[in-house]
Amino acid sequence: MPSTHAVAGLITRLHDPQYARWASQIRRTGGCRQPIHLRGHVHHIDPATGQRLHSYTTATEPDGILRVPCKTRRATRCPACAETYRADTYQLIRAGLVGGKGVPDSVTAHPCLFATLTAPSFGTVHTRREKNGTVLPCHARRDAATCPHGTVMSCTARHGADDPCLGEPLCPDCYDYAGSVLFNAMSPELWRRFTLALRRHVAKIGGLTLRELRDQVTISFAKVAEYQRRGVVHFHAVIRLDGPDGPTTTPPAWATADLLADAVRHAASAVAVATPAAAGEPARVLRWGTQLDTREITINGDLTEQAVAAYIAKYATKAAECVGTLDRRINPLDDLTAFDLRDHPRRLITECLRLGALDELADLRLIQWAHMLGFRGHFSTKSRRYSTTLGKLRAARATFIRGEAITTGRLPILDEDTALVISHWEYAGKGLSTGDALLVAALTGAPRTDPLPLSGGGS
Ligand SMILES: [Zn+2]
Ligand SMILES: [Zn+2]
Ligand SMILES: [Zn+2]
Repeated sequence: MPSTHAVAGLITRLHDPQYARWASQIRRTGGCRQPIHLRGHVHHIDPATGQRLHSYTTATEPDGILRVPCKTRRATRCPACAETYRADTYQLIRAGLVGGKGVPDSVTAHPCLFATLTAPSFGTVHTRREKNGTVLPCHARRDAATCPHGTVMSCTARHGADDPCLGEPLCPDCYDYAGSVLFNAMSPELWRRFTLALRRHVAKIGGLTLRELRDQVTISFAKVAEYQRRGVVHFHAVIRLDGPDGPTTTPPAWATADLLADAVRHAASAVAVATPAAAGEPARVLRWGTQLDTREITINGDLTEQAVAAYIAKYATKAAECVGTLDRRINPLDDLTAFDLRDHPRRLITECLRLGALDELADLRLIQWAHMLGFRGHFSTKSRRYSTTLGKLRAARATFIRGEAITTGRLPILDEDTALVISHWEYAGKGLSTGDALLVAALTGAPRTDPLPLSGGGS
C-alpha cells in the first residue's frame, strides 16, 4: 500500500500546472526508477554575428531540473534502464554473429564458438543435477568421509530448483573461501592471459609468429561474467575468427572452427595467475576449472546465434546480488549480522574484508569490492573489432531523441558545425519522490521490452 505521504505527493504533482511537461520528461527517461537531475542551460550562438539563435534552460522545467535516465545495467537498481542495456547488449552481440550495425552478413561464415570458462572447485557444494528429466541426489556417497568438523561429506537430497542451499558448501568450515574470492579478484587477469595464450596458440598452429598472425587473422571476443550460485564468477564468451581487418575480411582457410576449439581448450588449460603469500595465507596459483565447454555457433544448429545473444544479454544485467549478497558497497565497519544474508555470502564478504586488509593483497581492493565477492572486472566486454559498441548504439538513440526534440520544437534545427554551442550543466540530485515514483509506474508501466528505434538500420 502506498503511504498517505506518497499519495499526497502524487496528487500535488497531478495538479501542478507543469504536469504535462513533467510527464513528457518522465516518458523520455523510459520509466527510470532513479533519474539523474540536471540543472543548466544550452545556448546556440551564430559565430559570425554573435546572435543568440536558441536557448534552452532548465529554469523553466518542472522543479527547475531536467531528468535523464540513470543508465544502470543492474536490474535490481533500475529495471527500465537495465532493460535498455540488455536490449543494446543483445543487438551488439547479435550483430557480431549475423551482421548488422555495420557488420557485414558474411560474418556468419566465419568460425565462431561459444565457450564457457569456469572456476575450479573450492569445496563440495549442494547441487541440483538432472538426468533425462529426473533430479539426481545431490552428492550421494556410500562410503562418505567425515570431515575434520564432523560433517559427513554426503547429501542424498534431491534439491528443488530454488532450494536456497544450492551452491552452499556441505561443510562451510572446509570450504576455501579465500580461494573463491581470490579467484574472483584475479579472473579478469586470468581472462586477459587466456586471450593472449589463444592468439599465441592459433599462430603456432598456423606456423606463424604473432606479428605474422596479425596480417592474416583477428580473434574477436565478446564475453559476460556470470555468478554461479556458489558465488564465484565464470565467463561466457563468443570467440570468432576474422580476417586481418576484422569482420569485413575473411579469415584464411586454415583457420577453422575445429582449430579454434582446439586452441581455446589449449589456452584455457595453459594459463595461470599467482597471488602472493600474505600473513597466514599461502601464495596461490589460480587456474580455470576443468569444466570447459566450447560449442560451435551456427545459424541452424543446436546453438543458434539468437540463443547466444539472448543468453549473453541476460547475464549482462545481473550482478552478485543474484547469489544473495548486497547490491551496494560494504563499509568494513558495517555489522554484517544486521543484514539479511545467508551464511555463505556473509562468509564470502567477510573473507573479502579480511584479505583486503592484508598489505600484500591491497592491490586487489577486496574491501571496496566485497559486495561483488571480490570481482571488480567489467560484466560485459568485447574486443574492438567484435561488432558495434554500446556507445554507438546510445549515440544513435540520442540522435533519435534529438530528432524528436526538434520536431516538438524544443531544439532548433541547426547545424552543429556552424552554430556555437555553449552549455553548462550541473548535477542536481537523483531519484524520485515517493509520490512521483507511483506516477512513473503508472505512466510507463512495466519496463519496456523494445529498444527505441535506432537510426542506421540493420537488424
Ligand atoms: Zn534508470
Ligand atoms: Zn545437497
Ligand atoms: Zn569440515
